[in-house]
This record gives sequence, C-alpha cells and structure tokens, in this order.
Amino acid sequence: MTEIADIAKLLKEAQAELKAVADKAAQEQFKSRWLGRKGAFSLLLRGVKDLPPEKRKEFGAKANQARENLQAAFEKIGAAKDDEAAAPEFDYTLPGRAPQLGKRHVLTQVTNEIVRIFYGMGFEVADGPEIELDYYNFSALNFPPDHPARDMQDTFFLDGDYVLRTHTSPVQVRVFEKRRPPVRILAPGRSYRNEAINARSYCMFHQVEGFYADTDVSFADLKGVLIAFAEQFFGSEAKLRFRPSFFPFTEPSTEVDVSCLLCGGTGCRLCKDEGWLEILGAGMIDPEVFRAVEYDPERISGFAFGMGIERLAMMKYRIDDIRLFFENDLRFLAQF
Ligand SMILES: [Zn+2]
Repeated sequence: MTEIADIAKLLKEAQAELKAVADKAAQEQFKSRWLGRKGAFSLLLRGVKDLPPEKRKEFGAKANQARENLQAAFEKIGAAKDDEAAAPEFDYTLPGRAPQLGKRHVLTQVTNEIVRIFYGMGFEVADGPEIELDYYNFSALNFPPDHPARDMQDTFFLDGDYVLRTHTSPVQVRVFEKRRPPVRILAPGRSYRNEAINARSYCMFHQVEGFYADTDVSFADLKGVLIAFAEQFFGSEAKLRFRPSFFPFTEPSTEVDVSCLLCGGTGCRLCKDEGWLEILGAGMIDPEVFRAVEYDPERISGFAFGMGIERLAMMKYRIDDIRLFFENDLRFLAQF
C-alpha cells in the first residue's frame, strides 16, 4: 500500500468494522488489529521510510491523521462500553451497606426502667394472664357483683366468667394465693378497657401494679417507696402530692400527682395551669382482699399502687398522643 487513496480506503474499512464491535473481547481484537503495535496503521506508517522521498511527507501525514481519527473513534465507543460494563461488575472498594438495627419499643424501655428502679427496692416481677377470670379481676379485689365500680372500668366481657383484664391488679391475688408474706411484687403488663380511642385513651394500655404485704407495712412505707421512685424516674426535683381517693381494693386510697415536669409547679399548658400531673393510684390493701386469699388482716398489712406506663412515657418524653405508641411508625419509634 503506497498510494494516498489507499489510506482512506483502509480507514473506511476500519470504521465499518468498529461499528460492529459489540463487546469487550471484540474491542480488544479491534485494537490489536488496527491500532496496536502490529496493527494495520502501524505497519502503514512503518512503510513510509520505503517510499520515494517526495511522497514520504504527505503520505506520512495523511496516514498519521487517519490513525488518530480511528484512535479517537475507538476511544469514544470504548468509554461508552465501559460505562455499560461497570454497572453489573462488583466494586470491592465501595463501603458496605449497614443493616438497619432494631431497638426496643419506647414502652418496653420505660417498663424496663420502672422495673429496674423497683428492683433496687427489693421488688420482684410477676405476670398473670390477660384473659382473666371475673373472680381475679373483680370479686377477689373487693368489687361485689353489682358494684358500680365495675362500670367505672369499661370492661371487655368474654364468654363465661372471663374478661380481658382491666388492670394488672389480679396478679396481686394470684401471687397472694401462692405465697405467704413478705411479698414485694411488681406486675407490668397489658390491660384492656372498652374506651373510645383518642389522643388520651386507647382500648389497650400497659399498667404496672406494685404491691407489698408484710407485718407492719404502713402508709409511710408507701409514700417512701413512691417518692424514691419519682425521684429516680423523673429527676430529683420531682415532688409528689397525695390526694384522697377511692378504689375498691385499697383503704385508704390515694391518687398521686407529680409536680409538673415542664413548669416545675408554676402552671403551664402541659399541666393545664395546675402545676401537678396525676401519675398513679395507690392505697393500703383492703382487709377484704387479704381475707379472700386467707391472709390475716389483723397481722398482715400492705400497700398497692398502679400506674399507666403510656402515661409515664408521655410525660417523660412529652408525647401528646397515646395512639403514636401503637401505630408502629418508625419515624416515631426511632426517636427513643
Ligand atoms: Zn406545668
């Protein structure tokens, strides 16, 4: 090949072949056939020295130009093919994708904290069935059959003598039946009431019942235990207020408020300008409850308290809607 016209022919041939290049192997093949050290254009250029001197310059320049054009065209399709090839190939240098780790539900966290605090005061944990006999949920806790207090707790009644427990207080009776004083028990668990669902109430909630029966247990012991709890749970500045109240299974009974966590007692939106937030009900265990489990109320005394775990969690974390706990929205749950 010694004519200048041959250069253009060769280039045309190469370009046609380049169009058909479809994969990496064909690319390699094309490169060595046309552009490599032993490729067609290299041979062409190597032949320049054998041409007559007056032809060398023009031929060399044209051949070089053609080779460069082909090189450029080849690199262009090579880059496009590289992009395609890169995707399915595994890149070992990329950082790994961390698996999303789960965590405990905020109610479980709060329950564990409550248990931990009372554990430090010598309480053990006990549990009982959520489908409960009427006897344990009501009768043994001094709710007579026609007592209006049964209506106070909107009960889900099941077939026979069964109900969905309306509180975890029946655990008290179940433990007393099996054990003799002293008993110091904490019973956290689910409870159910047939209430309209809104921001402040739900048909299912968690309650923790605590009770202590022994000789010489006094109301002062109850106050001491609850104050110690409040200081650890809410902080040392928390103060408690005891108001007289009524529950069938305690006498005397009290409802307990904590000084508002937001304003400290001066009044704000959270406490509705009261300065106090109700956190629990408590009292000295009624002698009738002891009689039902054959404890001697002349010798044995005790206290019991019950608090809503959702309510405590709402106060501690300033959550304003109880439904958030049960919607399982990760954006909510991941905050705790
Ligand atoms: Zn307040």
